[in-house]
Amino acid sequence: MPKPLFNSSGLLPGPVLLLGAPGVGKGTQAKRLMDEFSIPQISTGDLLREHRKNQTPLGMLADDLMSKGQLVPDDMVNQMVATRLTEPDTKHGYILDGFPRTLNQAEWLDHQLIGHPLPVVAVNIVVPERDLLERITGRLSCPVCGTIYNIYSEPPKRPGICDREGAKLIQRTDDTEPVFHERMKAFQSKTAAVIEYYRSHGGRFAEINGNLPVDEVTQSIRATLFRLRHHAES
Ligand code: AMP
Repeated sequence: MPKPLFNSSGLLPGPVLLLGAPGVGKGTQAKRLMDEFSIPQISTGDLLREHRKNQTPLGMLADDLMSKGQLVPDDMVNQMVATRLTEPDTKHGYILDGFPRTLNQAEWLDHQLIGHPLPVVAVNIVVPERDLLERITGRLSCPVCGTIYNIYSEPPKRPGICDREGAKLIQRTDDTEPVFHERMKAFQSKTAAVIEYYRSHGGRFAEINGNLPVDEVTQSIRATLFRLRHHAES
């Protein structure tokens, strides 16, 4: 495998995982890092919502589970990620947002990445649980550019309208209080173990405080990526 070249930001990101509970800001941060490092955000939630919109067999199966806040079966999600990772834009790295969410998915990913020139770096974004409900129920996003707002902490300039596109903002159907509690249950029973899995890898894992202004969180993830990538390379 040829040694990768560094890109204009001075960092070749390779595979990056953003971990954390629902509402910690994985999607918001992934979009910012994507712009900076010119690598794609791969959000399994977004991919599943796309399948649902297009009424594919996967989308129709996932619909019921997603609306209840439950996880879609591993084999299906893994297959969907495998397909996405064959696309050429993933060559220099990608940010996985919302994957892996189970130990089985984490082990599957490890297997996929055997022989990859850069090891995975995992960043766990931590926000106190009491703040997550407001982040979820206040969340709105632009259907055109995907920008994420929060009516409490990051409101658009005009209520309900995207600053960039002028499009009407939408709320996810699973961003309600009852579904939030189910999503938290899935997080605690399945995804918390994934965080411990990456923590035990030592040098390629970091935890950052997600309860700061968005720019500061981005800065902190950015600095962490440089540090972890340097560690992983040496
Ligand atoms: P998200 O957009 O990441 O909050 O995901 C929305 C929903 O999609 C989740 O509540 C799950 O139903 C489903 N989902 C997303 N990613 C995964 C995954 N890695 N494994 C299983 N289900 C997932």
